[in-house]
Amino acid sequence: MRWSGLFIPTLREDPADAEAISHRLMLRGGFIRQLGAGIYSMLPLGFRVLRRVDAIVREEMERIGAQEFLLPALHPAELWKESGRWEEMGEAMFRLRDRKQAELCLGMTHEEVFTAIARDELRSYRQLPQIWYQIQTKFRDEARPKSGVLRGRQFTMKDSYSFDLDSAGADRSFDLHAEVYRRIFARCGLDVIEVEASSGAMGGSESVEFMAISDAGEDWVVTCSGCGYAANLEKAISAAAPIEDPEDTASPEKFATPGIHTIEELAQFPGGAPAERQIKTLAYVAEEALVLLLLRGDHELNEVKAIETLGTTNVRPGRPEEIREALGALPGSLGAVGVTQLPVYVDETLRGRRGMTTGANEDGFHLRHVDVERDLPSPRWADLRGAQAGDACSKCSKLLEVQKSIEVGHIFKLGVRYSESMGARVLDAAGKEVPIVMGSYGIGLERIMAAVIEAHHDKHGIRWPVSIAPFQVVVVSVNVKQAEQASRAEQIYDDLRKEGLDVLLDDRDERPGVKFKDADLVGIPYRVVLGPRALAKGNVELFERATSQTVEVSLDQIVAELKRRLG
Ligand code: ATP
Ligand code: MG
Repeated sequence: MRWSGLFIPTLREDPADAEAISHRLMLRGGFIRQLGAGIYSMLPLGFRVLRRVDAIVREEMERIGAQEFLLPALHPAELWKESGRWEEMGEAMFRLRDRKQAELCLGMTHEEVFTAIARDELRSYRQLPQIWYQIQTKFRDEARPKSGVLRGRQFTMKDSYSFDLDSAGADRSFDLHAEVYRRIFARCGLDVIEVEASSGAMGGSESVEFMAISDAGEDWVVTCSGCGYAANLEKAISAAAPIEDPEDTASPEKFATPGIHTIEELAQFPGGAPAERQIKTLAYVAEEALVLLLLRGDHELNEVKAIETLGTTNVRPGRPEEIREALGALPGSLGAVGVTQLPVYVDETLRGRRGMTTGANEDGFHLRHVDVERDLPSPRWADLRGAQAGDACSKCSKLLEVQKSIEVGHIFKLGVRYSESMGARVLDAAGKEVPIVMGSYGIGLERIMAAVIEAHHDKHGIRWPVSIAPFQVVVVSVNVKQAEQASRAEQIYDDLRKEGLDVLLDDRDERPGVKFKDADLVGIPYRVVLGPRALAKGNVELFERATSQTVEVSLDQIVAELKRRLG
């Protein structure tokens, strides 16, 4: 292709409202344009990259025998009501009504549709296993669309679903996907780590996220260099620094704490206690019932763990009136000593603690000399605390590292969550009806593009890995009006194309500086430059974007050299 005939609207200046590097470079390089909040148009260059990612994903999925579908983006509400997620998905789901007032939604994911097909069509264990996939548009009304295509409200996902007779089969399908994902990311030039993750709204037992370490991400991952443990911070287990309590056998004693409402205030208060010797009491409402969640004073609640502990996503902090009605006091003076009327979940780090201070359930009063195991009537032990920087690994005691990352892929063992609720069953070898054991697996295509840019760029622009670059080579003549340069450039362009390489000829009548800047910005891996100095020696310059190195190659060798480098 010829640059002069292409639509590549590069920008000289950084767009004002784009923060993430990948967002800025995709705008400046003419890859995307914004249409609305979290909605982007792919321009020709962007679409070329997207198609390359798409092709890699497809090839790798076909390698494990996955079969490609294309499902609708528009779904009747009934389907989502069957699985129970019509309610559960809340505001993230785009909902609409048709002319007959029937409710519909735009698909955020496709467990329901694929499970419905499996339910209606699969009858026997002989038809299993199946792996079904599609590459399709998803719609999610994200609370905070951010960083360009990294978090859009409309995006392309490869989603696949496995259907097995039993959990051993489902484990195999899961492992196959993990292997496919490793290959996809490696081929796209993206380094990822695999971390234990929480399953969130998908349900199911186990899930692994593929994370690209990057400051542009919105997830935190915890890793241990000692034993290789890696988990999303939402899920991570870590060892809190242990605390030695003084000997204290006294009974709980109420004392006045006028105007004291927070852990910090009580830590400063004469006769109070340092944060790690206080019990933090949080009142939450789960499925309309009040519960207490207890943590060490210097620890924070991890809401994902709270959701997992409480077994419902329908969880919110209690309102002051309802808390006062149940406990007789407002937040700031709450505690669980003597509380029998509510479930009390107690974080594991409070086991065995004594001489603790906590609220007395009377405004302006606290209790000291509290022995957790002695004074809490019926604690339900749970893992509630969020891991934090400075924690040690709970497996090998090494200090954990906490880093920001982009979630590029997520694979789930779904178990029978959907097959049971939607009735997808087959007959097993003994003729007994059993629910199909499922898995679901997602990868975001635009998010891969952006994550690759976050990992591969410099101050001049993008450095695409060859595998997904919009073009592999750009041929530039320093001066298109100079006949020899121009005709040599045409010749090399033709020869490279005949070899099947993806080449762009920059035939614009522009200053060389402008052409080099554009080529750097859009990130084409190799640049062949025809200029007077090298040509006088029968050479061209070959510039490699990834290393910024230039070598001279003779005119008759350039095609072979590029073929060698591009494999
Ligand atoms: P996140 O926690 O970032 O919202 P998620 O857990 O909702 O992601 P999944 O439902 O597992 O994501 O979707 C599978 C993949 O789809 C993700 O790993 C990611 O690559 C991509 N993806 C999810 N949401 C978006 C989005 N809003 N924009 C672009 N890609 C997305
Ligand atoms: Mg999400």
